Amino acid sequence: MKNQAPTDPEMLGRICRELLSRQRILITSHVRPDGDSIGSQLAMAHALVALGKTVRIVNRDPAPPALQSFPGVGRIEIADRVEGAVDAVVVMECGDLSRTGLSGLDRLFIVNIDHHPGNAAFGAVNWFDGTAAACGEMVFEVIEALEVPLSHEIAVHIYVAILTDTGSFHYSSISPRTFEICRRTLEAGVDPVAVARAVFDSNTVGRLKLSGAILNTLETDPSGRLAIVYVDRETARATGGTYEDTEGLINVPLTVREIQAVVFFKEWEDGAFRVSMRSKGRIDVRRVARLFGGGGHKNASGCTVPGPYGEARRQVIPRLLEAISDPPGDAAGRENALAEPAGP
Ligand code: 5GP
Ligand code: MN
Repeated sequence: MKNQAPTDPEMLGRICRELLSRQRILITSHVRPDGDSIGSQLAMAHALVALGKTVRIVNRDPAPPALQSFPGVGRIEIADRVEGAVDAVVVMECGDLSRTGLSGLDRLFIVNIDHHPGNAAFGAVNWFDGTAAACGEMVFEVIEALEVPLSHEIAVHIYVAILTDTGSFHYSSISPRTFEICRRTLEAGVDPVAVARAVFDSNTVGRLKLSGAILNTLETDPSGRLAIVYVDRETARATGGTYEDTEGLINVPLTVREIQAVVFFKEWEDGAFRVSMRSKGRIDVRRVARLFGGGGHKNASGCTVPGPYGEARRQVIPRLLEAISDPPGDAAGRENALAEPAGP
């Protein structure tokens, strides 16, 4: 029994036709894949294999350590170019083709499935749904339209995609559809406790020490609403942690009631800094990321800015303070999660 109308039946029909009529299908996503990229790709891969397709997943970077134990992750190929015979590419979770970090894709037939605002519609087929809390929600609908049964593996990957891309059900992108899909994955056998433990409780001592060192750098702006954290290579090395181990740490400062947004600066290559931003409610950090050539979502976005660190801060922090004091439709800049939603 279907419990929820598909969001775009015509588009789903088109995607099904294009995939069913092709045999060798390659799946990819963005550089430095996160839970939504890995979950969306593996759910799709398992479904296409169930249909008898020849499937490869090729990513520029490995999956985060916490996801390494999930079914099929070990079969993801890591490369910077696509070679061999391919009849179609499914690109997921990726606003533009260059963000795959792979060359050799542009000559291929591309199905683009994404929920990032600003998607460049680079495919032969482009399904964009900015209301999806995770790309995994869209993949769930594709799999349902393909009439592939929701196996345990597929369900686990869909659940991981949603769990991670909603920041453990913290972001405002969540809808009734989010929970409807999660309900279906639980019916298919997903154990949410085991998944949460595997995804979030896979600390090592190095990681814990690195987290402590990073949280020790925490400063707030004079209003107390913006938190700033920082890591450099030397700190990561000294604690025995790695940059991958910092995944998810950015959410910790948001547990402070007054803190409305967090920016995390990571020392990167060529003296540049990777900048990750998170926010609560209506505060739009994607707007800030876009100013520096990055992107993402309203409550979770990122970009890369040139160093040195002092200069990176001078560029980014004032823009974030503007975003905090001027969220769209809410001059006070504060969310009230328990208020009644505004009427129509
Ligand atoms: P994170 O802070 O975890 O690296 O990224 C948060 C969100 O912003 C993710 O949805 C990610 O895909 C997006 N994002 C991060 N960095 C970039 C970037 O440089 N360009 C674009 N377009 N999106 C980014
Ligand atoms: Mn996503």
